[in-house]
Amino acid sequence: MPIWIRGGTLLDVINGTFAEGDVLIGADGKIAALGTFAAPESAIVLEAHGCAVLHGLVNAHTHLSQTFMRGLGDDKKLLDWLKGVVWKLQAAMTPEDVYLATLLGLVENVTCGVVALTEHHKLVNSPAHSDAALRAYLEFGLPTLFAYGWNDLGDGALQLDQIIAEMERLRATAHGSNVQVCVGPMVPWRCSDEAMQRTFALAEAWQVPFHLHAAETQDEVGLMIARNGMRHIEWLARLGVLSARTQVVHGVWLSDDEMRLLQKSGARLIHCPTSNMYLASGMAKIAPLFGRGVPIALGADGSGSNNSQDMLELLKIAALLAKIETMDATALLPRHILYMACVEGAAAVGLSSAALSLGNVARLICVDIQTPRSAPVHDPFSALVYTANGADVRHVIVGNRIFVRERAVQGVDVAALIAECTQAAKALLRRAELL
Ligand SMILES: [Zn+2]
Repeated sequence: MPIWIRGGTLLDVINGTFAEGDVLIGADGKIAALGTFAAPESAIVLEAHGCAVLHGLVNAHTHLSQTFMRGLGDDKKLLDWLKGVVWKLQAAMTPEDVYLATLLGLVENVTCGVVALTEHHKLVNSPAHSDAALRAYLEFGLPTLFAYGWNDLGDGALQLDQIIAEMERLRATAHGSNVQVCVGPMVPWRCSDEAMQRTFALAEAWQVPFHLHAAETQDEVGLMIARNGMRHIEWLARLGVLSARTQVVHGVWLSDDEMRLLQKSGARLIHCPTSNMYLASGMAKIAPLFGRGVPIALGADGSGSNNSQDMLELLKIAALLAKIETMDATALLPRHILYMACVEGAAAVGLSSAALSLGNVARLICVDIQTPRSAPVHDPFSALVYTANGADVRHVIVGNRIFVRERAVQGVDVAALIAECTQAAKALLRRAELL
């Protein structure tokens, strides 16, 4: 059935403009009319008076298995956080835990206005764990880039042949669905040169992204320098795995030469400002990189280091952090931040244009900005970045499917899911001897 979004402020996140109007989404899930028009009587009406209507936010990097880890890693440095909390819990998670944590994380993402995301899948303990994560994404239905996270060095590492076989198997399972499986080396200091090159060749053959954490902390860069005398991006370039296919997550500690390498290669940077602050990893040089034309998308990172998935909240953090990093209040404007979250985000997960144009697939959110928090609104871009948060998201539509209507996720009993997850998370903590 067609969907009629009635009476909002339509935002063009590509050009940074806005105008009052309605949107009609056809039964095929594509934008059929914009502005003023006569909607068919059969259309489902979504009221959007007082709302900003725009392409939804894209969470370009997260680990939803960490939904059960919220608050458990507070106030720790990255390596202590990984060893003391994350790796212990990951080892104790069952496939059912992974499924439930992922599902709750998906509900959180979509209610906060996320229309697509990248899962950097960490729970590769067994094929059953990977199947459970993938099943949650397949069932939920949001467009997803599923980066298979692997390490072939250190404790619990997988063999290269095993890594490739798993990626091939998961790719076959997801074929033709809303999920695209891609290659996701987990951390540079636990990945061998050979595995990097072999899996990059696979990403080339499949024409999918090569998505990896890199240059997140000074300590990690130090580990790589001790191993081979190179910094992270230098190493990627030397191996021949730095290209427009490469997605560098974090990129906090980059030398000037590495910034030039990124720019020349066309690689994307996935900026996770909240996580970088939470773990005191540092301040990525986002404004200078954006100025050089490096494509930058935004990610919440896992709830173990955030602790939420609220991408609207994250927009404000990204804007403020850029001001402090440059000591320049004009470093990045709300239009720039929304461009990263919507336009670059959509490109990072392999979706078509984020333009609000006739014929484009609808991936739209309606965010209430006539609230005590945001009113009076003089500029909806400012309201979205500086005052709105996830609780203001009223409707979320992807294609011809309404995921959120009047703030309620459709087709999920959220109260029952929270109860089930709470019980499962307590049992997990007991197994991991953290409770
Ligand atoms: Zn991450």
